[in-house]
Amino acid sequence: MGSILLGASELRALTRSPEKPMVLILLGPPGAGKGTHATPLSLSLDLPHISTGDLFRAQIQSNSSLGQKAKFYIDQGSLVPDDLVLDMLFDRLKAQDCAQGCILDGFPRTLAQAKALDLRLENKSQILALNFHVPDSILIDRIAGRLVCRDCKKSYHKLFDPPATADLCGECGGRLYTRDDDQASIVSKRLEVYREETMPLIDYYAAQNDVLKEVDGQGAKEQVFQDVLNALPSFAKAISSQ
Ligand code: AMP
Repeated sequence: MGSILLGASELRALTRSPEKPMVLILLGPPGAGKGTHATPLSLSLDLPHISTGDLFRAQIQSNSSLGQKAKFYIDQGSLVPDDLVLDMLFDRLKAQDCAQGCILDGFPRTLAQAKALDLRLENKSQILALNFHVPDSILIDRIAGRLVCRDCKKSYHKLFDPPATADLCGECGGRLYTRDDDQASIVSKRLEVYREETMPLIDYYAAQNDVLKEVDGQGAKEQVFQDVLNALPSFAKAISSQ
């Protein structure tokens, strides 16, 4: 796809309506690149990046009661029950930085979560979804070598995108680690859960006019990100028709 090369301010103007803040959902299987692209997208659009997985990992790190409950499910590769996810996410959405919209990474993951989000937003925000399409063989290779920064959450890959200094984040100097749930046995369960619970969301959003855009997430990081930026202007119709 040719590059449209919109500047950050043009992108923001296209994707931001004063009446209806944009809630941009990043959909796709584990390892599809949702987190990788959410960070630069958050900078380009000046919207907060909210990852329910990161929120849970922060709860686990602080050993809160929510963290202890969530860890039980995360360690098995299962989904955390909807009520725990919804309370945590809706609390986060109350923060002032979400007033102009946000980027959701890893949420919703079930139809019940998607419907709860619709109810919570009361039609006052415009939901848009980008679905990252990546074949399983690529996902497994990506997850198998994934390293994540404990501090800024930037992800690297042992082979495809290694850090310049072993075990250290080139962005913030934080320590890199391998997520417990990135072990092969748990990844296959996460992919199965994705197919059963999360894939139906593609049809859910595709059934709504101009809400869903597909992105080919297979290529190099820079190319995929360019495709993400190219997909955004096509949301303008949904936004301007409000
Ligand atoms: P992620 O970092 O998005 O891959 O999420 C890591 C794990 O956190 C998932 O495998 C789930 O166990 C849990 N999790 C994150 N987001 C959700 C969600 N929206 N619903 C249920 N569980 C979630």
